[in-house]
Amino acid sequence: MPLHPDAEELWGRIRNPYCRDCGLHRAPRTVCLIGDGPVPCKVLLIGEAPGESEDEERKPFVGRSGRVLDRALERVGLPRSEIFITNMAKCRPPNNRTPQKAEIHACREYLDRELSEAKPQFILLLGASALDLLNREGVEKNRGCVFDFNGAKVMVTFHPAARGQRRRSMFQEDIEAFARLVSGELSPDPVTGCPTP
Ligand code: URA
Repeated sequence: MPLHPDAEELWGRIRNPYCRDCGLHRAPRTVCLIGDGPVPCKVLLIGEAPGESEDEERKPFVGRSGRVLDRALERVGLPRSEIFITNMAKCRPPNNRTPQKAEIHACREYLDRELSEAKPQFILLLGASALDLLNREGVEKNRGCVFDFNGAKVMVTFHPAARGQRRRSMFQEDIEAFARLVSGELSPDPVTGCPTP
């Protein structure tokens, strides 16, 4: 599947295929894999890093995790075609290991440019690496709350590849809560009940 035409344009403006800001550029096929979806967008999702399929197809969340995510989004009426989706780390880490903080921080300028172009009103962070956006730690501790990031409302959930029935049901619950936030049915109180960083 080709990238959304808006994303094609964004790639042209933001992507640096010669990036050497961290060691991750050494291994992947696609260096500096930018996100996909409409720009600007209402809803934006952030994952961890491209995996093997994403590296090959030059598109975020097209492999197994992508299929889990697509099904979860479909169930709550949030079509993927209307969502911009990207990752904290822009190059596939060797053997799909978790990207290190320094690698995530090296990519931050690309993410910040994506966010300032996409101008989302709602952001969902998928997994522990994505929580770095808010300088927070611990998905379980932070899920269920609504945070602010430069005016966007942000929620947190597990990565779609998270294992175990318990996490999978919490993931689905969080996607449902996020959909209610987007549709205006969930009014956030950004202070009550949310942990301090
Ligand atoms: N996992 C991620 O975090 N991002 C992808 O793009 C694919 C799998």
